[in-house]
Amino acid sequence: MNIGFIGLGNMGLPMAINLLKAGHHVTGFDLVQSQSEAFAAAGGTLSTNANAAANKADILITMLPASRHVESVYLGESGLLANANPKTLLIDCSTISPKVAQAVASAAKAKGFAMVDAPVSGGTAGAQAATLTFMVGGESSVVECIRPVLEKMGKNIFHAGASGAGQTVKVCNNMLLGIQMLGTSEALRLGIANGMDPKVLSDIMSKSSGRNWTLELYNPCPGVMENVPSSKGYAGGFGVDLMLKDLGLATENAQDLDASIPLGQLAQELYEAHSKAGNGQLDFSSVFNLKQ
Ligand code: NAD
Repeated sequence: MNIGFIGLGNMGLPMAINLLKAGHHVTGFDLVQSQSEAFAAAGGTLSTNANAAANKADILITMLPASRHVESVYLGESGLLANANPKTLLIDCSTISPKVAQAVASAAKAKGFAMVDAPVSGGTAGAQAATLTFMVGGESSVVECIRPVLEKMGKNIFHAGASGAGQTVKVCNNMLLGIQMLGTSEALRLGIANGMDPKVLSDIMSKSSGRNWTLELYNPCPGVMENVPSSKGYAGGFGVDLMLKDLGLATENAQDLDASIPLGQLAQELYEAHSKAGNGQLDFSSVFNLKQ
């Protein structure tokens, strides 16, 4: 298949490389030269702009930072919807607002395109290992059509519902993740203040009712686990500012719907304070060190 790939960042680059490894012809575009060069070195074909990456593509994938980048790539006179072939299936894997995802998909539909939102979970390690979870919103027939391609980048492909549903699941999941990381950090810090060994504390809580993903697989206390960001100076992983963006999506979504998310709001305030203290680029588990 001919696949266009726009946004070759921390996630997009390894995802596009997995499509190359699966034997697809991938044409990629990114604004950052070093990312483009890494893609070309892996055997990808570089294009000079987003519309050229979509040229002749059976499927076009975008993996961009936020809602505004997705709007600017798809909409307007110079956007993909005005210039690409409507036979090209469009997949947006970026994490963006469900409202924006629905608006872009309906603009696509009006121009004769089929489009799904397909945000992912699993981080950069999952992107490299092709073990991502995809949460897809859109029509069933389109989801089934793209499933074999998504399976080259991920292990679990879920059809969440209609357009925007993939983003809704992603927003709910990441709000819960952000809250869990704060709760786990707080419990560990309290135990340590009592003189507990954080490894012993983590082992016992992992077999008790406080068990959760952040405690068992992504422990925020340095030295408890190997090969997690907390044991590597909180480098790599999922940045504080990206978590903050996702909590912003959750609170904006809740406001639109008059839904009550007091813990989500508090989590946003706490990550914001942590980011403002100069930790925005560190992994989000560094919130373990937040002093209030
Ligand atoms: P990133 O910033 O590393 O990559 C985004 C890339 O998009 C950058 O290389 C940037 O140059 C490029 N870009 C921006 N505007 C562009 C344009 N107009 N044309 C072409 N390229 C453009 O971000 P990432 O970590 O790869 O995350 C991408 C998305 O995936 C985000 O929405 C993020 O929330 C989500 N996500 C990230 C992770 C993670 O662990 N990093 C996990 C799950 C989901």
